[in-house]
Amino acid sequence: MSYIKVQCDECEKEHQINQKEFDFEQVDSDERQMGAEITYEGDLEFTCDCGQHITVIHRFWEYPENFENYKETEVSGASVVENKL
Ligand SMILES: [Zn+2]
Repeated sequence: MSYIKVQCDECEKEHQINQKEFDFEQVDSDERQMGAEITYEGDLEFTCDCGQHITVIHRFWEYPENFENYKETEVSGASVVENKL
């Protein structure tokens, strides 16, 4: 299963977020030699028990279609412990 584990910067509590909790949307597409390169982005915002606001943004690129060739994750308010997205 794909997930990310982050640790709150304030209280050090760990939060695990499963990939299915993200609502991925196609945000960009580019025509290239082997077809379209599509960018997907999903973001998730939540508040830790201590009140800290945590944001996780995950993007991935598919090229050729259905083949994930690159991905990146941005986290604010927490640090990444494990990233299996
Ligand atoms: Zn916290």
